[in-house]
Amino acid sequence: METSKIPLDNYKRTKIIATLGPATDTYDAVKKLIAEGANGIRLNFSHGNHVERIEQIKNIRKASKELNKPVAIIQDLQGPKIRLGDFDDVITVRSGESFRFKYGSDWVQDGIIPTQYDLAKKIKRGERLYLYDGKVRMQVTSVKDSVVTARAENDGILVQRKGINLPDTDFGGDVITAKDKADLAFGSEQDIDYVAMSFIQSAKDVEVMRRIIKNLGPERKIIAKIETKLAVENLDEIAQTADAMMVARGDLAIETVAESVPIVQRQIIGLGLRYGKPTIVATQMLASMSDMPEPTRAEVSDIATAVLLQVDCVMLSDETAVGKYPIEAVKVMKRVIVYTQTHSPLRTVFKTTAEPAETKQRAISHSIIDLAANIHAAAIVAETKSGATAIQIASERPNIPIIAVTDTARTAQQLAIVYDVKSFVRPVSKDAAQKLSTFLRSHNVLKKGDIVVLVSGQYPGVVGTTDTIKVRQLD
Ligand code: PGA
Ligand code: MN
Repeated sequence: METSKIPLDNYKRTKIIATLGPATDTYDAVKKLIAEGANGIRLNFSHGNHVERIEQIKNIRKASKELNKPVAIIQDLQGPKIRLGDFDDVITVRSGESFRFKYGSDWVQDGIIPTQYDLAKKIKRGERLYLYDGKVRMQVTSVKDSVVTARAENDGILVQRKGINLPDTDFGGDVITAKDKADLAFGSEQDIDYVAMSFIQSAKDVEVMRRIIKNLGPERKIIAKIETKLAVENLDEIAQTADAMMVARGDLAIETVAESVPIVQRQIIGLGLRYGKPTIVATQMLASMSDMPEPTRAEVSDIATAVLLQVDCVMLSDETAVGKYPIEAVKVMKRVIVYTQTHSPLRTVFKTTAEPAETKQRAISHSIIDLAANIHAAAIVAETKSGATAIQIASERPNIPIIAVTDTARTAQQLAIVYDVKSFVRPVSKDAAQKLSTFLRSHNVLKKGDIVVLVSGQYPGVVGTTDTIKVRQLD
């Protein structure tokens, strides 16, 4: 029974995204992840093949249906993630030594380190070249005939296929690779809710992606992964252009400096609230749980911090993809979220009084939340076609559950990773919100005497026509 899944007094406002991988590749594991608290599932297109993806998507949708819980599927594209090519053993690096790099070369034959991407096309002399996830740092001394020469700035080793970062390099709007395009074409045939873009540098990159998606046809929202220096510089315009943002702390720490990441995390969440764009904190939230059944104190604190900042989602990567304790990691995350949001001494700050409404939609959501708070409503029940109304209300961070009613499964799935929102799919009707509140009352999710604020529009099923706010006391 679907109602047993929505106890309104003990639910997560901040949601969980889990990444699938070898550790969670069975139907049973996927179902457990979702049952224990995952609201979104990320498919990392840096690994795996399309055949595996089809199976994973099928499993997610089947489990979601069985559990009666909408789940967002995120296609995370690799982007211009550059890697070293293949070579045997390790290459020892000494500070001051020079090395040559070339797309697809042979280390043994040419003494040139192979890369899986033609760096020479983008990188310029004087720019930095970070190898092995930032462990070895070099500076480019020349780029000639497709060969990049760089001088090492520290001692270290290089291992084949390890990541390369180009923190100073401007990709000039060219961050969507041929592989990404093939993956997008594949994804457009699949039941996917979000596309996550890696290594974007500007709002223009997001616009290019939006055009590609539009040409392919399906409804997809775009998550901008913030993980480059330029993206941080262009944060405001990206926040306005993308549908959602991810604090991709792994690469962000390499491309900027680690100590800036907590500040950037706050900036991203703040801009998300300002523009009504969901945000995700990602990477190493429970890294130690890849090997151990218990989190560290620092990890618990990291999740709690994100929850206190009122982020929409916290994300698990390796923990659920290749870790030894994937289900336990989701359980720990959920426990920390629920504990933190229930015991936080911080009161929700209503931005209604702090900031003037910039748009009509925003003004309406302000009023809805003011009203709901003043009459101590048990829930806000909002009809929403595209999800925009629910997202807008959620971005005000009310302390009240938001229940969304939509006639579109895609919208319910996309709303699964939005703060505070629980979705139900119901046919379009003039009083869908009213009917849903009756349904929730008859299943004892809402109690006799509870007050609900119903939000609807004169033209049900039409985007952006919210114009009716009703108060109802349940009997
Ligand atoms: P990735 O992105 O896991 O795809 O690299 C997240 C990050 O960089 O933190
Ligand atoms: Mn990354």
